[in-house]
Amino acid sequence: MNKSLSVIVPCFNEEEVIVESYRRLQLVLSTLQLKSEIIFINDGSTDNTESILTGFLKSDKTVKIISFSRNFGHQKAVTAGLNNCSSDMALIIDADLQDPPELIPEMIETLEKSNAQVVYCVRKTRKGEGIFKKISAKLFYRTLNFFSEVRLPVDTGDFRLIDRTIIDEFNKLNEKGKYIRGLISWVGFKQVPFYYEREARFAGETKYPFAKMLKLATTSLLYFSTKPLRVATTLGFISVVIALGLAIWSILGKIIGYTHADSGWTSLFVLIIFFGGVQLLTIGIVGAYIGNLFDEIKNRPEYIIRKKENFEIKNDERSK
Ligand code: UDP
Ligand code: MG
Repeated sequence: MNKSLSVIVPCFNEEEVIVESYRRLQLVLSTLQLKSEIIFINDGSTDNTESILTGFLKSDKTVKIISFSRNFGHQKAVTAGLNNCSSDMALIIDADLQDPPELIPEMIETLEKSNAQVVYCVRKTRKGEGIFKKISAKLFYRTLNFFSEVRLPVDTGDFRLIDRTIIDEFNKLNEKGKYIRGLISWVGFKQVPFYYEREARFAGETKYPFAKMLKLATTSLLYFSTKPLRVATTLGFISVVIALGLAIWSILGKIIGYTHADSGWTSLFVLIIFFGGVQLLTIGIVGAYIGNLFDEIKNRPEYIIRKKENFEIKNDERSK
C-alpha cells in the first residue's frame, strides 16, 4: 500500500509544546509504511512558535508551514490545512498532545479494515480539564444534537483521520462559518468511531478561552439547525396564549368585579418583564441568524495566508 498522509497541526502560541509534539509525531510517522508530511498552520502566533517551526524545516523536508496574517482561529487553521493538503489521507490533531500521536497507526488500520472514509476519535475520558470544561462540553454536545438536523457524534473533537473523498467534499463547501467536526459528519460516507483517553495538555495554557468556546458553540448551533427559530416562534405563541388568557381574565374581572384596578402591581411587573424577555430573546435568535447571513454574504476570505513554506515540493519527491 503506497498511500500518503498529511498530518494537520493548528498552532496558536504553542512554543511550549511544539518541539515535543513534533518529536512524538515524527517518531510515529517514521514507523509507518507510507509517505507522510506534517502541515503546521501557524495561526497568527505572537510567541516563538513561528521560528521554532521554521527550525524544523532545516532538517526535515516533510514539514510544511502555513502562516496566517493574524489569528483567525482553530477552525480556520484546520480548514487551511485541508485546503492545502494533497495526500490521500489527512489526520487532524491538536498541537498540545492531548490527542496522542501514537494512536495514528491504529487509526489508519481502522480506516482500512472497516473500509471507512472517516475515523473519528471519541473521548472516553478527559484528563487535566477543569470541571467547568467537562460539564459544559458534555452539555454542549447533547444540546447541539437536540437542535441539529444532522446526527453529530457526541464527545468528539476534530481529532480524526479522513480520506481523500472527504477532503475533496469538504473543500467544496462554500460556507465561511465552519464547524469542522459537524461538516465532516454531514458529508456522510462511512464513518467509524475510535475510542481513546484524552490526555492533559502537555504544557502551556488552553488557547480556547470561554469567548472562543462560545463562538464555536453558536456557529455549530446556528449552522446546523433552524430549530432555534422555531423555538422563538413557539415562545411567541406561548406568550400570546398567556396574554390572551390574562386579557380575558382581567376584562371579565373588571365587568364582574373580582379584580380591583388599584391592586395588581406585582402581576403587571411580572408580565412586563416576561413579555419583554420573550421579545428580546426572539429578536436575539433572529439577529444571530441575520448576523451569520451578513458574514456569509460579505464573502470575505476565511483566512489570509502571509507565508507558505516548503509547498513547492511535489508529492512524489516527498517520500521518506
Ligand atoms: N488553536 C489555533 N488557533 C486558535 C486557538 C487554538 O490554531 O485561535 C489551536 C491550538 O494551538 C491547538 C488546538 O487549536 O493546537 C486546540 O486548542 P487548545 O488545545 O488550546 O484547546 P482545548 O484543547 O483547550 O479545547
Ligand atoms: Mg487542547
